[in-house]
Amino acid sequence: MEQTGPDLDAITSTAENTAADFEAWRAKHVVPTEDGQFLVEGDMRLPDLETVRQYWEGFTGNPNALSVFRVAGADVAWNRTDRWNISYCIRPGDFGAQYDRLVEFMHRAASGWEAAANVRFVHVKAEDSINCNRNNTNVKYNVERNFSFSGLRAGMGFPNYARNTRYLELGPIGEWTDAELLAVLTHEFGHSLGFVHEHDTAMGCGKVTTGSYRPLTCYDGRGAMHYPSESGWLDPSRTLNFISQWDFEGAQSLYEAPTNVLSLANGTVFARKRSTGDIYRRDANGWTLVGGPGQAFVAVGNTLYGQIPGGGAPVKFQGNGWVAIGGPAGQIFACAGTLCATDPSTGNVARYDAVANTWATIGGPGSRFAASTSAVFGIGSWQDDYTARWSGAGASWSVVGGGASELIGGGTSMYRLTHLKDAIQRYDGGSTWTPIGLSGRSFVAAGANVYGLRPDGSWVMRYAGTQWNAIHGPATRIFSSNGFLFVTNPDDTIERYEPATNTWTNLGKP
Ligand SMILES: [Zn+2]
Repeated sequence: MEQTGPDLDAITSTAENTAADFEAWRAKHVVPTEDGQFLVEGDMRLPDLETVRQYWEGFTGNPNALSVFRVAGADVAWNRTDRWNISYCIRPGDFGAQYDRLVEFMHRAASGWEAAANVRFVHVKAEDSINCNRNNTNVKYNVERNFSFSGLRAGMGFPNYARNTRYLELGPIGEWTDAELLAVLTHEFGHSLGFVHEHDTAMGCGKVTTGSYRPLTCYDGRGAMHYPSESGWLDPSRTLNFISQWDFEGAQSLYEAPTNVLSLANGTVFARKRSTGDIYRRDANGWTLVGGPGQAFVAVGNTLYGQIPGGGAPVKFQGNGWVAIGGPAGQIFACAGTLCATDPSTGNVARYDAVANTWATIGGPGSRFAASTSAVFGIGSWQDDYTARWSGAGASWSVVGGGASELIGGGTSMYRLTHLKDAIQRYDGGSTWTPIGLSGRSFVAAGANVYGLRPDGSWVMRYAGTQWNAIHGPATRIFSSNGFLFVTNPDDTIERYEPATNTWTNLGKP
């Protein structure tokens, strides 16, 4: 029996090998910054060399994927208060004629993560002046131009950084296409949520937590935090980042789904308490605690479903408690009369039969899924490939148009957003998607209506057939379920819309 390997390796000690490996990686991927930090792999700002080393040790050889940065045994993520106020300002003088474009694309990139997870980015426009700098403590991030950057370069600080090292620096955005600008900002906002580079991790589904990161999904060669230029990227012809199915699910695993207000068909309202994540039911006596934090909540008819946090099992509310109805899930969503859930390791979609208490696979992975009151839709895994509709039986789907970035379900019609998030389209049968509006912070459908929140959150709008009419002032989010529209106000109170009279009922807050 020959034994060559160990002898050859023994020429240098393991420690020396490791040190040499680290130095080789560092020479290629780590650049010191003028303020004493280190820019890792182009855009991840790490505070000191020890952290850089820990980061490198963390990813070496571990099969992981979308992962959250960790320091001292804790996730580097925003707490429940701050995750709804990830505020930023933009220094206008740095961007000149590009300022308005940057404002708009920051909204669009923010809206992508906000559609996936219970986070909210806030542009504090009042701070957009020469004083929007690293010393401005009225925001969590300042956005500035790095005039030494060329190409698609950018840099971003993680949530735990001191204010003066937590900023977004951008290269020459005037040279970037709209698609490039949206892709870069989507990736950088991922860092601002605590996500590290996915291409640093090995393929697989090991979910091994290390000293410097915790994996949230299986490895994904398509995701927002994977450089398209790095090995493992599944299609070299596609060179821009986007929020993939597993980004969507990993972001929910860390920050929960944006499902804060729900209504059963009978009008019973449930809402999350923002400070705790607990869920409450509103009844004659006010708000009553009915459950702890869940990854997501979905109301189907008169049934409330939830999901155990961290990609856990779907659960059903039974009036006085919750019962698990399946195994671990990536996400849950309303599915034309019942619940659907994705398999966290394959991405496949399964549909729940509430009578038989069984699940049936109805389709493979995609990037987004949503249902109108009567049909289930999905977007292909790359977003730019296709939109499909489930036949209603088996695992048979029909392609009903080209790609899109988001689906907007919940009403009698299905809607979607274009890749650039510059338009909303209504599904009109066949492969016809009719543009009905421009960009928005978010959209929901309820009954035959579709509603939108303006990009800066200043107005809630209702589509009136040929135009959009304002129906409510500033809102932090809009929600729909079972035909009802809700908004949350800046003070967290909840209002329900009465379309027949164009009025609002304030329900307070849990
Ligand atoms: Zn990056």
